[in-house]
Order: sequence, then structure tokens, then C-alpha cells
Amino acid sequence: MKTCRFVPVKGEMQSRLTATESRADEPAYGIIENNRVFGLQDPFGTQRRSDESWELSGVRLLAPTQPSKIVCVGRNYAEHAAELGNEVPKEPLIFLKPPSAILAPEEPIVLTPQSQRVDYEGELAVVIGKRCRRVEENEDVRRYIFGYTCLNDVTARDLQKKDVQFTRAKGFDTFCPVGPWIETSLDLKQARVETLVNGARRQSAQVTQMIFPVEMLVRWISHVMTLNPGDLIATGTPSGIGPLSARDVVEVTVTGIGTLRNPVWAN
Ligand code: ZN
Repeated sequence: MKTCRFVPVKGEMQSRLTATESRADEPAYGIIENNRVFGLQDPFGTQRRSDESWELSGVRLLAPTQPSKIVCVGRNYAEHAAELGNEVPKEPLIFLKPPSAILAPEEPIVLTPQSQRVDYEGELAVVIGKRCRRVEENEDVRRYIFGYTCLNDVTARDLQKKDVQFTRAKGFDTFCPVGPWIETSLDLKQARVETLVNGARRQSAQVTQMIFPVEMLVRWISHVMTLNPGDLIATGTPSGIGPLSARDVVEVTVTGIGTLRNPVWAN
């Protein structure tokens, strides 16, 4: 199942529009099926479908979740740790991106005059479906996972090196494109993360190459902080990172989910 957040594009009529049901311009959750978007209430709870639907081409997709936090994992692919001259960590290395950095599909990543080197980092992101804290070793962690989406952990690489920690380098507005939707049934054994810049492939790795796999990460992070429905865990980027320039177009694809595409604008 593909779930999304969206706003109808002005002028597009709902299939069943009455005065009381009209919610034009208000962001809503939806389920995508056969190029149509069906309204969805309480996506992390009862998942009640509404009768309203729109053509997929008649909506503007937003970031598919509004997380209370975005937990990122650094150096989770051995080749990427090596390309930055880092050791492979013995336990997950985590940091946060602020929810204010979230960016919708097709919206522009805006470069900053504070940095001379802004990089893409294509990643698989886990979407939490159920509040969890200190998940026990013998408990199945999958019940807390709602689904998966694509995420671009945009990073001001020079500031990451210069500052003692990552808050500024990872936290600029627009530095967290997410989407285009959440796939609730992804086969992680088959999934690949790929990043293309202006159509040229720059990153490509099998998700199974992660040092710390998805279920271990969710469990491990739950022993640090409470995870809430909608929270995102960015699982780390493969090797092949590189800079973005104004007028580039960057695409992060996870096979089995879809493609998150964003243009890059000068500041
Ligand atoms: Zn990253």
C-alpha cells in the first residue's frame, strides 16, 4: 500500500464533491491506487478510507509524514565510511535533523551562502507507525514499522567538518527531501538505493549491505528515545556522495518504493 500526504491542485474536481465535504487546499493523507488518490483518515490508526478520490496528476504531493523527529544513521555502509576516511562504527552513530528541514517532492533544495559544498545523500527511510520505547530483544520490532520512503540527507559537507557536531550542516531549511509516498510492504532483501544527478547515476547499493539493519536500528534507537508515529529513521547513505550545484536535479530512488525528485536552487 502506498500512502501519501497531498493537496488537490486548484481547479481539480473531486469525484464526489459536496459543500460539506469540500476540503480543497487542505493537506490530507491518501492512499494511491491505479493513479488515483483516495482520502485516508488516521493513517497511523484506524486507516479509514473516504469515498473522495482524485487523479494522481491532479494533486500536489507533500512530504508523506510530519515527524516529531528525523533520526539519521551515519556510516551505515562500509564503502561510504571509507570514502570519508572513517572507521566502520561498532554501534550505530546517530544524529538528528530538524522537522523544519523537511521538503516535499519536486520542491527546490535551496543552497546556502554559508557553505561551499552541499552534498546529496540518498537513503532509505523507515517510517514509525506505533509509539515505541525500549523494544525488548524478544519482541518483534516490525509491529512498530509503518513503512518505508526515500529521503535525501542533504549535507553541507564543509560545515560538517568545521563544526564540532552536525546540527548546522544537516539542518538548513529544505535539506530533508522526503517522499514521494510511503510504501507499507517493501521487500528489504530486494530493495536498492540509487541516486541520480541530472540523470547520471552516482549512488547504487543494495539495502542488505547496511552494517546495522533496519530492525536492529529501530530497536537500538528505541532504547535512546521514544519513537512516535510518523517519525523517520534515515538509515544511512551508500558510497558515491558528491556535491550539488544550482540548477541540478537530484533523484533518490528506492526500488519497490519510487523516486523522490528535487531541483536545486541557488540561495
Ligand atoms: Zn546521511
